Amino acid sequence: MSFQNPVFIPGPTNIPEALRKACDMPTIDHRSPLFGQILHPARAGVQEILKSGSAEVFIFPSTGTGGWETALTNCLSAGDKILAARSGMFSHRWIDMCQRHALDVEIVETPWGEGLPAHRYEEILTADKSHQIKAVLATHNETATGVKSDIAAVRTALDAAGHPALLFVDGVSSIGSMDFRFDEWGVDVAVTGSQKGFMLSAGLAIVGFSDKAMQATKTGTLPRTFFDVHDMAKGYDNNAYPYTPAVGLLNGLNMACDMLLKEGLENVFARHTRIATGVRAAVDAWGLELCAASPEVYSDTVSAIRTPDGFNATDIVTHAAETYGVAFGVGLGEVAGKVFRIGHLGSLTDVMTLSGIATAEMCMADLGLDIKLGSGVAAAQEFYRANPATTLKDAA
Ligand SMILES: *Cc1c(COP(=O)(O)O)cnc(C)c1O
Repeated sequence: MSFQNPVFIPGPTNIPEALRKACDMPTIDHRSPLFGQILHPARAGVQEILKSGSAEVFIFPSTGTGGWETALTNCLSAGDKILAARSGMFSHRWIDMCQRHALDVEIVETPWGEGLPAHRYEEILTADKSHQIKAVLATHNETATGVKSDIAAVRTALDAAGHPALLFVDGVSSIGSMDFRFDEWGVDVAVTGSQKGFMLSAGLAIVGFSDKAMQATKTGTLPRTFFDVHDMAKGYDNNAYPYTPAVGLLNGLNMACDMLLKEGLENVFARHTRIATGVRAAVDAWGLELCAASPEVYSDTVSAIRTPDGFNATDIVTHAAETYGVAFGVGLGEVAGKVFRIGHLGSLTDVMTLSGIATAEMCMADLGLDIKLGSGVAAAQEFYRANPATTLKDAA
């Protein structure tokens, strides 16, 4: 694998030079006001990126998966009923985690390629008159299928049913790249990590808790130690952690938030939409289809591209790595071998994206697929020429 090429996996994403430098810092006392000068602005930055005025932000040395566990173990008790749709590998894994924590999950099986079915949630929540369901899980952007779901519609379903369940949202591959509205959508716990929209290495679980979620921590009895938000909150009051924080990554996170907020969240989202639309134009020109079933659910951070029957899509990923030193994502779970994924989130420009599209074309042609070299590149070029990046910051 060449270190010169950008990666096109849907996380970890490309790390801007400035963020790499920000993570590379001398050791400081991690129980000191100096550490507080990194920690507190980073938490405030995350809160702003969540579009929240009041979410309690906690940052653990972990990954997105640890964020899932933080949500479950702090708010729930063994045997609690959970409602969740399974529509891809990431929603599946969160459900699996619930089951391993002795939670009782009502699973809405959803075709891989579709968004989560808010109408089914509403029916189930309405039927749950005695409010046995304590939490609803929603994967905002299913990274395995390249599908975004409508979280506002899930909130509407909860409200229409008059149901008090908590709303936990996995925003690992959306927050910082796609519009996310913690307050407006009535999200109770939002989960993300450092290595996707925040453009850093893996190593941080980043969560936001609503007031209601903080209240639920008082009654939830699942065991929690490392991910206990109250231990964390107590530490924060003293510019510290209950254990040793990942100081360099937190410094990077602080700067990543600055970068995103300086660019402007709406500009960041528009940049992702533009880049993604160019990729989709290429897919269309290749005569291939996305795993995502319809345009309303197309993800702006990752495209899962179906290859023809009888062809192993994973060969594209292997060949790209071995021959061209470029990383694409493999298909996971039910769509393993059927799709390959182009990640297009984080620090990416039109020109970088064109190189990924060109590489995918070379691989598909090398492997005997009927792809005309340059067809996807040309389609994306046409789109990018017609819709140029509006600010220099787009090159960030
Ligand atoms: C990457 C990802 C995760 C898992 O995050 P890790 O940081 O690998 O633990 C969870 N959910 C979604 C949607 C993801 O894209």
